[in-house]
Amino acid sequence: MVQTSSSHDQLLKKDEQYVWHSMKPFNPKATIVAAKAEGAWVTDTDGKRYLDAMAGLWCVNAGYGRTELAEAAYEQLKELAYFPMSQSHAPAIKLAEKLNELLDDEYVIFFSNSGSEANETAFKIARQYHQQKGEYNRYKIVSRYRGYHGSSMGALAATGQAQRKFKYEPLAPGFIHVSPPDSYRDDCDVTNPRELSSIKEIDRTMTWELSETIAALIMEPIITGGGVLMPPDGYMKAAKEVCEKHGALLIADEVICGFGRTGKPFGFMNYGIKPDIITMAKGITSGYLPLSATAVRKEIYEAFKGTEEYDYFRHVNTFGGNPAACALALKNLEIMEEEKLFDRSRDLGDQVRLQLSDLLEQHAYVGDVRGKGLLIGIELVKDKKTKEPLAEGLVNQVIAECKQSGLLIGKNGATVAGFNNVLTLSPPLNIKQADMEFIVKTVTEALYKIV
Ligand code: PMP
Repeated sequence: MVQTSSSHDQLLKKDEQYVWHSMKPFNPKATIVAAKAEGAWVTDTDGKRYLDAMAGLWCVNAGYGRTELAEAAYEQLKELAYFPMSQSHAPAIKLAEKLNELLDDEYVIFFSNSGSEANETAFKIARQYHQQKGEYNRYKIVSRYRGYHGSSMGALAATGQAQRKFKYEPLAPGFIHVSPPDSYRDDCDVTNPRELSSIKEIDRTMTWELSETIAALIMEPIITGGGVLMPPDGYMKAAKEVCEKHGALLIADEVICGFGRTGKPFGFMNYGIKPDIITMAKGITSGYLPLSATAVRKEIYEAFKGTEEYDYFRHVNTFGGNPAACALALKNLEIMEEEKLFDRSRDLGDQVRLQLSDLLEQHAYVGDVRGKGLLIGIELVKDKKTKEPLAEGLVNQVIAECKQSGLLIGKNGATVAGFNNVLTLSPPLNIKQADMEFIVKTVTEALYKIV
């Protein structure tokens, strides 16, 4: 039920008094108190409607208001609400099997509740795996500047965005960063991807740090929160080869790229590789309940099968693999397949990027329109030749114009170097054509208002 205006004001007042929100200083005037949602549309407690072109935080892939998902969780809660994953239950088993089908290979699945936890789990598995094989010095995790891997002490240490980190240091030790490729700014025109400067940097870093100290490289197939940075052709494959050369594992962080966001079940599938470990969250339940997973190649899992106590993976998670969350996830994946949402994401994404490129080609501040599937970035620059990022104030104006017109879009990049200049669109994958047209029209109009 949508609340009346006075209860909206009261809620906001209590919100200001009692709730600590993520990221920004709290601004009651700019805050949406969401009451309900359907499809791609969210209604606030004041009755105002917004088209959510970010699918929440890149997660409501199957769209809002899916009663089938609520029912799947409800039915499971009545049957078996909880059981620890040191034992087992059917929803977790079936979901692990389904994920194997989507991954199209043999992986063993460890469940947790958030993307950060899935990555922490991956780091611990990578470190212990090498130990199980008698390689006791392999503890370093290599990751990329501008990548985001979560907010806990290890996942934040892997994150390559200094502005999120510097007040909380020292973080977990043993994390090293390398530069990501930036296909918009860097010269990525090489015949052999091994010649890319970003690939050479991974290779050199692993050499100079000593190969035998490197446990793994973690990467998002497309750096999303860091500004939708597209890898050049062959980049991910070359990175995997470099990992193999140094005996390191490759971890793909699919927390955003997974479950159709980039037009395939998983982002890495666009780049012809098979990672050793894959972490996933958000879209696994379309955000309806907390759940995440760390998928591990079978041979890695086999190394933990010794019978001595120190062979065990000493890691436990009370809520990970919750039966209701797993049952909901299974239904969510069934919907995605039935409605062919992965293909829809690919096709609609291609179409919308083309449309936006055409509409914005002449715009003084639009440097680049890029992405894959329904993961879209519009990079705003002060000058198309120098590619200097547009002042954040102007980027914010575009976002405010959109909000004024009832459209929620994102802004991503790297604040620390003034690169918070990429508008992001990541709508539900089942978004209606008319809603998509509304997004394109509103963003275009908002952009032309600032020149
Ligand atoms: N990895 C990536 C790529 C992410 O974008 C995020 C969250 N936005 C995380 C990990 C962390 O997920 P969570 O917030 O669920 O811990």
